Amino acid sequence: MPLLVMKFGGTSVADLDRIANAAAKVQREVERGYDVIVIVSAMSGETNKLVKWVNDTAVFYDAREYDAVVASGENVTAGLMALRLQEIGIPARSWQGWQVPINTTAQHGAARLVEIPRGNIDQKFAEGMKVAVVAGFQGISPEGRITTLGRGGSDTTAVAFAAAFAADRCDIYTDVDGVYTTDPRVVRRARKLDRIAFEEMLELASLGAKVLQTRSVELAMRYNVRLRVLSSFEDASDTSGTLVCDEADIMELKPVSGIAFSRDEAKVTLFTIEDRPGIAAAIFGPLADAGVNVDMIVQNISEKDYDEAHPGAVTDMTFSCPIDQVPRAKRAMEEARANGLIRYDELIIDDEVAKVSVVGIGMRSHAGVAATMFKALAAEGINIKVITTSEIKISVLIDRKYMELAVQALHDAFGLERA
Ligand code: ASP
Ligand code: MG
Repeated sequence: MPLLVMKFGGTSVADLDRIANAAAKVQREVERGYDVIVIVSAMSGETNKLVKWVNDTAVFYDAREYDAVVASGENVTAGLMALRLQEIGIPARSWQGWQVPINTTAQHGAARLVEIPRGNIDQKFAEGMKVAVVAGFQGISPEGRITTLGRGGSDTTAVAFAAAFAADRCDIYTDVDGVYTTDPRVVRRARKLDRIAFEEMLELASLGAKVLQTRSVELAMRYNVRLRVLSSFEDASDTSGTLVCDEADIMELKPVSGIAFSRDEAKVTLFTIEDRPGIAAAIFGPLADAGVNVDMIVQNISEKDYDEAHPGAVTDMTFSCPIDQVPRAKRAMEEARANGLIRYDELIIDDEVAKVSVVGIGMRSHAGVAATMFKALAAEGINIKVITTSEIKISVLIDRKYMELAVQALHDAFGLERA
């Protein structure tokens, strides 16, 4: 039997009517001859409520019990979905993570998938079951405790099942009808993409486009799972939504496919550090130890001249990190200075910045993307503070107040708007 994985996010199972709507979509696929594995999220708002209950009970909570509580949202929807399917005449059964079992590591709250044995579910399919409904987001640790995969983890559950069961496709039903060139709330004429390559999606996902959990895209890329993002509020056809796929399956690679942005960035500069071998390690080692996710890094000649207090060459180091990690970054740097690991004159924090990135696999073979980007920003009088590039991405740090303007200008400059 060909097999399909269908994942329904929180808004798609928000109440009984929506569960019925989702079940009808499953029914359609069963009638077309598929066995289906349905992965469900908790009803929307449920996980947030459970997390809050945990926090309100214990500030320094035991992560095992956090997982026991927050995993429960998915149990409810899995059972209800199986019941609804049975009501419309489809042989269905629900599974919680431990029953499959979905084996994970013991990192509670952020567990990693280790293995999903097919035996239990395959046996039920062999006995005539048409739909296995599996609670997303959860698993079981080697110690036999309930684990969760981190917020948004049901996407990753879905892709893992698609890989383990060699599914024809993994359909992710959500409240948007696909992946867009940029956020339609910022650019009204943003266009839905029919296809996007795994690597592009990975960049967009990690840059703040929140349609899919980043890990699910990594997994899909590793196992070449065809992943489709589509709305559960529309009637799907075979071409609805956006297919996230191998670049070989995309006819024409545009230099730029999408524009991502992130508001929650900060820029940290250490002025007048020694310019010597090992200085970067002395800075970024302690930052890593403090759990700071450093993103962009620039080292440049210091404006400051040589002075008595700093014999030898000096330089400045600038990096960016998420804004909520600034206190940690600051403390790590102050400690490194106190311990004599590094020296600097001043530590300056600019927390009024945003990151805007253009992403496209076609960039590899098209020259001039950077020039077009910088020209478009210059035309709007937007100053660039930091630039980084990779093979398929160019990112700039700019003043946050110009972020929307920059995204719109770049969207226009690369011709991404709807016809
Ligand atoms: N219910 C979980 C969350 O809200 C997992 C998911 O929906 O993907 O994070
Ligand atoms: Mg989600």
